[in-house]
Amino acid sequence: MTDVFDPAKRSAVMRRVKGRDTSPELVVRRALTRLGARYRLHRKDLPGAPDIVMPGRRLAIFVHGCFWHGHDCPRGARVPKQNRDYWVAKVGRNAARDARSAEALAASGWRVEVIWECELRDLAALDERLRRLIAPIPVAPASQRVMPVPKMPQSDQC
Ligand code: ZN
Repeated sequence: MTDVFDPAKRSAVMRRVKGRDTSPELVVRRALTRLGARYRLHRKDLPGAPDIVMPGRRLAIFVHGCFWHGHDCPRGARVPKQNRDYWVAKVGRNAARDARSAEALAASGWRVEVIWECELRDLAALDERLRRLIAPIPVAPASQRVMPVPKMPQSDQC
């Protein structure tokens, strides 16, 4: 297939596609470090391998590029004119996979947060959002903390 990008642009794109240590992710990590948060990276054992994980808070953070993950914003809507169908399908698959990962994480009691690339332009707002995310959580008895989230009761019990 003919490449829609010239080689220099392609390698820049591929660096982002690889998904590790992309610059938007670094921005979020630096902000978290500034706020004194401790976190782990790319937990491959969790659905979707969340970019940033705080196991104690059961908090999983994805930092998504707007184009690759189909954000509903001007940047996300910018689809290359060439091979348009290819890109639309590819981004659609990414978005579907993201939704499945988020569902699977939530089903095992994780809080899932998505931070979009376009949100990183306002660093003050990002800091504020992260600060709220990592605010101290009420301490539950140890037995409750390690237990999986209970299933919702069936409706016939109501
Ligand atoms: Zn966006």
